[in-house]
Amino acid sequence: MNDEQLTRYSRHILLPEIGIEGQEQIRRTHALVVGAGGLGAPVVIYLASAGIGTITLCDGDEVDLTNLQRQIIFRSADVGRPKVEAARDAIAKLNPEVRVVPIHARIDGDTLDQVVAGVDIVADCSDNFPTRHEINRACARHHKPLVSGAGVRFDGQVTVFDLRDANSPCYSCLFPEGTGVEETRCALMGVFSPLVGVIGTIQAAEILKLAVGVGTSLNGRLLLLDALAMEWRSVQLRKDPACPVCSQGALKAPACE
Ligand SMILES: [Zn+2]
Repeated sequence: MNDEQLTRYSRHILLPEIGIEGQEQIRRTHALVVGAGGLGAPVVIYLASAGIGTITLCDGDEVDLTNLQRQIIFRSADVGRPKVEAARDAIAKLNPEVRVVPIHARIDGDTLDQVVAGVDIVADCSDNFPTRHEINRACARHHKPLVSGAGVRFDGQVTVFDLRDANSPCYSCLFPEGTGVEETRCALMGVFSPLVGVIGTIQAAEILKLAVGVGTSLNGRLLLLDALAMEWRSVQLRKDPACPVCSQGALKAPACE
């Protein structure tokens, strides 16, 4: 690290849990952030300010006036621009050392699989169940830690599925696919502005902890926030031994795909 970097990251380096070695680890980390919305905004802002090496940011949308109430990486002048391009420009102003790979598309299938294979950590900041399940399957296949956040109205949830660990539950253990869970149309729901900031900030904290390899992650624990009462609950998650995504039998199959 050069003098400017030592100064920029000095408040991290002062932490014995991080130090120069941990900061170097952060710089070597490549994170995939799926969704540049209310959750993705604080995630990429904190990852960039903390000096993460590379962020691949995926989102197919353009900035809409309704986004500005909570998607704090965007400015009024960004309305109409592809979100990933506006976010890339904002990150460049904040920390030009961070490499950003913008993908202006809602990626799925083989493309998502290839992107997940090439990163260290994945943040699910998406807004729909099909994408969440696709991300989860790709992370299970490639044994990548998945930092998952969600928020609507005043209710938020955040957890880590550390799929490097064979005993870790996955998103599908928690929310099995096709069990009639009513799809919440996020586009039509209200969202309390700082709720997604709180949840996204916790996702960023978990990503940085995983990058450094410090502390205890949220793996196997789901944090639930009721922002109206401002109360947290912590729920232990269990691996579903019959999970079609992460159980023993399921994980033997992917070589054929
Ligand atoms: Zn599972």
